[in-house]
Amino acid sequence: MRSWPEVYLPPAPTNIKAPELKLFDSYKKALISLDHKIVTSYVCGITPYDATHLGHAATYLSFDLIHRYLIARGQELFFAENITDVDDPLLERAKRDDVDWQKLATSQIELFVSDMTALHVIPPRQYLGVIESINAITGYIKDCQNKGLTYFIDNDLYLDLSSISNFQGSLPVPLEQALTIFKERGGDPERIGKRHPLDPMLWRGHREGEPQWDSPAGPGRPGWHIECTAIALNSLPHGERTSITLQGGGSDLVFPHHYMTALQAEALTNLEFAAAYVHAGMIGLHGEKMSKSKGNLIFVSELLAKGVRASAIRVALMLQHYQSDRMWNEELLDTANQIIDRLELNLARNEVAPTHSVIQNMVEALSENLNTPKVLQLLGEWCTSTEAGEIGGSTGELSRALDSYLGIVL
Ligand code: ZN
Repeated sequence: MRSWPEVYLPPAPTNIKAPELKLFDSYKKALISLDHKIVTSYVCGITPYDATHLGHAATYLSFDLIHRYLIARGQELFFAENITDVDDPLLERAKRDDVDWQKLATSQIELFVSDMTALHVIPPRQYLGVIESINAITGYIKDCQNKGLTYFIDNDLYLDLSSISNFQGSLPVPLEQALTIFKERGGDPERIGKRHPLDPMLWRGHREGEPQWDSPAGPGRPGWHIECTAIALNSLPHGERTSITLQGGGSDLVFPHHYMTALQAEALTNLEFAAAYVHAGMIGLHGEKMSKSKGNLIFVSELLAKGVRASAIRVALMLQHYQSDRMWNEELLDTANQIIDRLELNLARNEVAPTHSVIQNMVEALSENLNTPKVLQLLGEWCTSTEAGEIGGSTGELSRALDSYLGIVL
């Protein structure tokens, strides 16, 4: 899959001391330092049928801030992202709307790519769809079979979780809750013949009217979790302590998707999957979760078409912490526009308040689990100082820092 164009990144200021990036891990419930010289980051991509709503944007912009920080700090970044270009929700939507599923996927992928380009999101080095990764996926499925980790129900192949030691002990939520969430998110806990209700399907045997590929488990198509296990292991260089450094996505992926992805990878490699599991919060509207079923999605492309600046969308989503579930509203955009207008006005002055200290404080706030509300507060204080007549700063230095760390191009 073709990734979107590279983003120009101005050189990071050399006179700034950037601390190690610390991010909150959803499973360890603790801050993890990303001190690795080489960081491999796998961020779960979209299923291409409702791209790109603000929930997507919030997730990819959060990981973009993480990637920008690591790059500015001189750490080498390998970033991979997938596209679930064949899966139940995509096929169901295509059927519902009576459109060809591949055409639907292609059009939505194009829209996603243009939105990511407009938002100045750093593109993945490896941007991989399921269809182009079938060989890698079936290879890992064969490995699972060879290791005795699988069983069939009819033509569907399942992972036998009970063959993996202590999987129940590592569940991120109590079993009862896990079963409910598993069912809500595409699982089939009640299927007769399953050894454990949470066993995920690795390969779905062919059904009439569904796309199919050959595999060691017979004709069919891959399950959701093995797709990401395979693409992550296959596309990123492996570390010594863990297979990859960072697994990321929206918080709706904490369970079962990322849990199963990691469990499968660990069963295959005997190595911890990721050093950190990081998740962005959900975006709601008018007190409700933004979702396709409620019909209350706000799309990035619609905002851009109305003339909303990409930088305003970035800033609006930075006003609250990336890991909090939060509501979207028009006032956020208004506030973001005021912040950008004020920054532009002050950066156009000949004399401005000292900039080195504000950049240093901004970088420190980012290093603490991306404290973007603090960053925006610091920038507001700098504007106030400039408006009060303080001098001694460099507008070029601050503009470059806004671009390289925050993706804000003024
Ligand atoms: Zn995934």
